[in-house]
This record gives sequence, C-alpha cells and structure tokens, in this order.
Amino acid sequence: SKHVYTFSNGVADGNASMRALLGGKGAGLADMTNLGLPVPPGFTITTDVCTWFTSNGSEYPPTLESDVAAAMHVIEAATGALFGDPAAPLLVSVRSGARASMPGMMDTVLNLGLNDQTVQGLARKSADPRFAYDSYRRFIQMFADVVMGVDHSCFEQILSHQKQLRGVTEDTHLTADDWKHVIECYKSVIQQHTGRPFPQDPNTQLWDAISAVFKSWTNARAITYRKLHDIPHDWGTAVNVQAMVFGNMGDDCATGVAFTRDPSTGEKVLYGEYLVNAQGEDVVAGIRTPQQITTAGKLMHQSTLPSMEECMPHVFQQLDSIRHRLERHYGDMQDIEFTVQGGTLYMLQTRVGKRTASAALKIACDMVREGMITKDEALMRIDPSSLNQLLHPTLDPRAKRDLFARGLPASPGAASGRIVFSPEKAEQLGQAGEQVILCRVETSPEDIHGMHAAKGIVTTRGGMTSHAAVVARGMGRACVAGASSISIDYGAGEMRAGNLVLHEDDVITIDGERGEVLIGRVATMEPELSGDFAEFMSWADARRKLKVMTNADTPKDCRKALEFGAEGIGLCRTEHMFFEPGRIAAVREMILAENPDDQRAALNKVLPMQRGDFVDIFRIMEGRPVTIRLLDPPLHEFLPHGEAELSEVAKSASLDVNKVRDRVAKIVEVNPMLGHRGCRVGVTTPGIYEMQTRAILEAALEVSKTDGRKVFVEIMVPFVAMEAELRVVRTLIDSVAKELLAGEREHVEYRVGTMIELPRAALAAGQIARQAEFFSFGTNDLTQTTLGLSRDDAAGFLPAYEAGGLLEKDPFVSIDREGVGELVRMAAARGRKTRNDLELCLCGEHGGDPASVAFCHEVGLDSVSCSPYRVPIARLAAAHAAL
Ligand code: ADP
Ligand code: MG
Ligand code: MG
Repeated sequence: SKHVYTFSNGVADGNASMRALLGGKGAGLADMTNLGLPVPPGFTITTDVCTWFTSNGSEYPPTLESDVAAAMHVIEAATGALFGDPAAPLLVSVRSGARASMPGMMDTVLNLGLNDQTVQGLARKSADPRFAYDSYRRFIQMFADVVMGVDHSCFEQILSHQKQLRGVTEDTHLTADDWKHVIECYKSVIQQHTGRPFPQDPNTQLWDAISAVFKSWTNARAITYRKLHDIPHDWGTAVNVQAMVFGNMGDDCATGVAFTRDPSTGEKVLYGEYLVNAQGEDVVAGIRTPQQITTAGKLMHQSTLPSMEECMPHVFQQLDSIRHRLERHYGDMQDIEFTVQGGTLYMLQTRVGKRTASAALKIACDMVREGMITKDEALMRIDPSSLNQLLHPTLDPRAKRDLFARGLPASPGAASGRIVFSPEKAEQLGQAGEQVILCRVETSPEDIHGMHAAKGIVTTRGGMTSHAAVVARGMGRACVAGASSISIDYGAGEMRAGNLVLHEDDVITIDGERGEVLIGRVATMEPELSGDFAEFMSWADARRKLKVMTNADTPKDCRKALEFGAEGIGLCRTEHMFFEPGRIAAVREMILAENPDDQRAALNKVLPMQRGDFVDIFRIMEGRPVTIRLLDPPLHEFLPHGEAELSEVAKSASLDVNKVRDRVAKIVEVNPMLGHRGCRVGVTTPGIYEMQTRAILEAALEVSKTDGRKVFVEIMVPFVAMEAELRVVRTLIDSVAKELLAGEREHVEYRVGTMIELPRAALAAGQIARQAEFFSFGTNDLTQTTLGLSRDDAAGFLPAYEAGGLLEKDPFVSIDREGVGELVRMAAARGRKTRNDLELCLCGEHGGDPASVAFCHEVGLDSVSCSPYRVPIARLAAAHAAL
C-alpha cells in the first residue's frame, strides 16, 4: 500500500475522505490543495506507517525511505529550492497530525533543513539577513526541545540574557549578529545536555523529526489525552512534511489563526488573531499581544493595534472569501491557520472548529436557516452531553461585582471556586469534591488533568486561541484568558492585580462571557431556554421515539423538569419526603411502633404530610403521568443514631428509651442493600404501603376535583423478585383504591407496576407481568445485583479495572450492555409476551446517559426517566438514536 501522499500545485493524492489514513491535518491540506487554495507543497506519511513503526520496534517499512526521497523531489520541483543546498535551500516543517486533533503529542518543527551553511544561503536570498538567523535559532530550539528532549527553559534564559545585554524587550529588536551569538550558545547547551552536537545533516534532521512524531504517539501525555477523550490507541498519527513559508520576513509578513464563525457565541463573523513579522505558534504562545483580524473584533476587544482588515486589506479580502469557500465545502465552521509571506497568503491548516455549546447550537440553527445543512444534520452536530453547559446558571446581572481583573472572554459560563495555582492541586481538590479555579500564567498540554478538575480557568497570558482558551471551550469550562494585569507568584501562592492581592484558597468567580475575574462568590441566575434552544429541541422531539420522563420528588425538581421538556414523572421517590425536617420523628415512631395501634397512630401523622406533597406534585404536573414508587429503602436507614436521637424518639412516642434501644437493635441490618427493604416492607408491614396508597389516591382525588383535570397515577412497587410479592402488594393497593374511589373512578385513573431491579425479576418477568401494567428498569440496583457490586464500595477497585482495560466504562454511568443490558432485553421480551401492552421504562441514572438511551431505543422501551438537568440530554440522545 501507498505510504506517502503528496499535495502540490493544485493537485493532491488524498482528500477529506481519507482522514483515517492521512490524519486530520493531512486530509485538510490535501483538500485545500484540491480546492485550488494557496497551500505550500508537501506530503503526508500515513497513519499506517505509524502503526507499523510502533509494532516493529521503531523501524520503517522498507520502501519508506525512497518514497520520502521521491516526495521531497516533488517539493523541490514545485519550489525551485533544494533540500540541503547551500545556495537555495529548501526548508520544511515537520508536523504531526492524528485523526482527531491531539494536544500532548510532538509539536511542529519549523525551518528544518537549516544548518551553518544553508543559513548563509537563506540570509543572502533575503533582504534582511536577520530573518535567516531568527529562523535558524527557532529551528534549533524547537528541534532540541521536541526531538532531542532539551527543555526550552534553557534556551529562554539565553534569549532573555541576550535581550538584557542589548537593552531591548522584544525579540524583534535583536539583530542578525545577536541571533548568531544566541545560536552558538544554543548549540553548546545542546552539546552539554545531550552529549552530542546539534545535527547539521538535513537528512538526519528530517528522519529524526519524523521518528520523534511517531514516537510521541506513545508518550505518556498523549496516552492520557486519548484516555480522557476516548480516542483508540491504534489509530496512529500521520506526519506532514511541508515547504516553509515565512511570516517572519518583515512587516508585510504575518502569521495567524482564525475561525470562520465566532467560537464563543457562534456569530457569523470571521474571528481570529494574527501577528505581523512572526512565525508559527507565536500567536498561540502569547509572546506578543496578537492583533485582531476584523475591525469589528478590534473594537470589541478594545484593542489599540490595527486590524488585518486595516493593515492588509487585500489579504483580508482573500481570507474572507476562503472562509466562505471552506464553510461551503465542509458545511461546518472551520478553524484555520495561515501565514502571509511578502503580502501573499498561504493556508496551512483547516479543521472543524471547536466551539462552546452555545456557539454550537447557534451555528447549527443558523446553518439550517442558511440551507447549508438539514435539521437532522444539525441534530447530529450537537453532542447531547454538551447541552448540560446550556442549562446551568450564568451570573446574575444585578448581583454586585467586585472586580479583580479583566481578561479575554475565552470560554463562557460562570464559575466560582477556590484559587489554586497548580494543576496537581486542582486535581487533588477537584477529586475531593471542591470547586476550584485554576489560575496560571499560561497552560500547556501537561496541565489538562488539572483543567479537567477545575470549574474554571484563568490565565494571565495568551489570546482567544491560546491553549487554555481552546481547551476550556472544548471541555465546557469557563475561562478568562490573557488577564495581563494579574501577576501570579507561584512561590508565594498569591496573585496581584494593581494593589489587590488574592491568595491560594481565596474564593473567586469568573465570568467567561465578559472576561472578568471577580472577588468572592457572585449570585447566579437561570439560563434562557427559548429561541434557538427551543427550536432545536423541537426538531429532536419530532425525531425521537422514546418518551422522556423525569426522576423528581420535590415541586422544585418537577418545575425544572417541565421547563426542560419532561413529559411526566417516571420516578417519584417517596422516601426523600420522610427526611424533611419535622417529619423524621413521626417516621421513626411509625417504624419503631411495637403494636398495630401505636403504628396506626404514627401512620396517621405521616399520612397528611405525604398527601400534601402529592397534591403539590399532581398540580404541577397538570395531568401528565406521575409514577410514584412506594417506600423502597430499608427501614434500617431511618433509625435514630446516638443517645440524643434515641431519647428524642422515646419522648415523642412516649416510650421507654430502653425499649426503643431494643427495637433499634432488632431492626439494624448488616447489609441493608440486600435487606429488609422495598416490597418486603410492604409484605411484612402492610400499614406503610396502605398509608402511602391512601395518600396518593386521596391527593389525586383532591386535585382532580379542584382542578377539574383527571390525574393519571402509576403506583410502582420496588424490589420485587417474584410474582407472589407483587400479587400481595397489588391486592392491598386495589383494596385501598376500591374503598377510596367507590364511585369516583372517573376522576382518578391508576395503574400498578413494578421496578425490575433484581436478576430474578428479570428472569421471571413473564410471570411478574401478570400482576404489572408497567415495568420500570431500575438499572442502578440491577447493576449492583447483576454484577454483585455495591455502588458505595466500588470506588476501591473500579478505577483499576478501567485503567487496566478490564472495563471500558463505569457500569453505573453507562449501561453494561452484555450483562445488565441482556437482562433488560430479556425481561422486556418476556414481559410483553405475557401482556403485549406492557409499558416499559428505564429509570436508573442511565436514563440520562446518551449511550444508554441509545440502548433503550434499540431494545424498544417506551420511555426513559432521568434527573431534571438530564432531560434535554435524553431528548437529544433519543433523537440521535432514532436517526
Ligand atoms: P499544531 O497541530 O500544534 O497546530 P501545526 O503543525 O499546525 O501544529 O503547526 C503549528 C504552526 O506552525 C502552524 O499554525 C503554522 O503557523 C506553522 N507552520 C507549520 N508548517 C508551516 C510551514 N510549512 N510554513 C510556515 N509555517 C508553518
Ligand atoms: Mg501546537
Ligand atoms: Mg495547527
């Protein structure tokens, strides 16, 4: 098979459909070449070669060397320069490029091919020899850093020393002779650190760089990144070798990055930054303050520097028209990199641009309106989990703001937390459940784990396209970047802005929308769910087959869930109500009662409380189905703890404290998860279920009479293992209902069903369905009982299982298809065989997990039920599953 694909003079061997083989960057370069855009010639070594290299002890396929030599000749022919030629040297960049963009791998090496001879040739060919030596020192530094493993801080010292010596502050003020001196120092540092000289032979340079790219695929950082982002380890990376163009040859040269639409807001404007007389990553690295591309952008950022639109109007026009070409070609927002050499524009990269969730939504909706994509395509563009970011609060505009410093609005959202200065600390506190804001001068791929753990990120250096900004947007973290008035002292653990000082552990709030860092915690407010969001979700609703219900048991949760589009309540847990202040005493009395009379007295105290709760919920749900689960947890959980509580219970129930202590000792369980809980309580202590049924039906009756709307109730029995249990409880429910609803049946409709959360229940689903009008798969318990794995104790070893590759995903997060999933599939089929109109729902945490929602769709369930904030996620995931 072919190992090397060239792109040159408007013709490329590859195209966008070959991402897997050419990597994202290589496919984009090939595509842009074929579109006739100005792309410096070059070639791509395929990802297959990477796989070969990795599995053959860092060797290459036998023909690769000659393939690369031939491809180098193609570049030479196209540029009229020769690799290693002292008079007219060809210089190239060596660029890694995996299928998915992947920070953490080898960086690009620019200006490769320079040595002590060729640099002179380059110097003679340019108006200002300074440029040639600037390029050479950049090359040595990058090559030493990424290929030879010499830390770049060694070079920075030399550079700042030279600037000091010359009394200048900017790199651009150093002369050719300065650079020559710097170069000699760099070379001796390399000799010192590695024991070998900087390689002068261009071919050695080229192959060393190529090998470094392939090796970087398996370095620790890259492996961590792939794990975090679910990128398979066997994809491999491609290597791109490309003729250099120079943005650092003078004031008619520049380098920049741009998005075809605003990646924060989604607005349809060219959005980006550039630097005059600069090369490569200078813009991203934040060495100088970048300039805006558009004049509108300049005004928005209150920049004093001229925009590209003003300085280089011709290049700007060309870039603007390329923006439209690329968007039309890809049908999506692109992130592009370019360089201007002597007033001529060159395109160096295009890829689908990362964006915030709100930008993604706006872009998808706009593109549908512009006729660029269909509604279905728009739906598929949004990752359901990312909707989460749109549902969370932003800062309340009326709240008082105590400004610490201002920076760039790099990634929207509001976040409060304690200041931490290191990614390690962020990770440590984040894991302990603390909210932290990571504050750094700048971030790099090594910091990803800490950025992940933080609620928000502040940097003091770097622009809208800096590492921190791009990664934060991708992760959905709020970020303020380039807050240059802040100076951070890592050693002292403090940061200053003017005469304000904040210390590690102080609380700050960041407003990613406005780019502000605020002192203390600032009040937040609920997001706007109308407009594009509502329209987009209506497209999802039109597509999905699954109904989406919610797990809610308070009026507040119910309202939230309705706002988010829930169609009813799939799981209303009644036990949470028991813990409300002022109630637990009555509940304990009910549990500890020694005889039926005492128990009845206690139940009569609880009844009106429960009824009141249900009345509220039925009102809010306005006739939508409400599934109420009878008491589930083990009685054990409600027992009083300690002497104080014991005597309190004894007093309120007028019992002897010793008697209470004895009762408690009898009820305590060793393994309550598998103990006296669910329908077992219903069987042994029918009074409780009887009271709950009464509370539910009385509430339904009351609401239907006052509101004139029929209430639709489903009573759900938990922890059923066998048909007989459900028969007993069902008989109880029906008899309460018969007495209560005599002659009132037109007001209240109720059904009885069961949770399927034990393997036996799944196996016996055919029998159980005789007693049940609906099933709801309680996949939290079903996962615990199927895997023999307690959720509370899993943390001791599950992470090791995930790390060791024994488990692909945490089975409590995403349904275990092969085990738990099979039980669900089987129970659904057996249940429906008995009763073909049996309603099937899933109400575990999995109901809000996109992969599990897809499973529910496949198996043919009727609905999923999840917590309110996950309702929109489930709606979109269900649409994805149906498309
Ligand atoms: P990354 O994947 O980190 O973005 P790239 O391979 O895109 O790395 O290289 C980073 C930058 O280096 C590019 O944006 C561009 O500015 C510069 N660069 C890469 N190749 C060339 C080239 N052939 N000529 C000029 N600049 C280049
Ligand atoms: Mg980079
Ligand atoms: Mg790039």
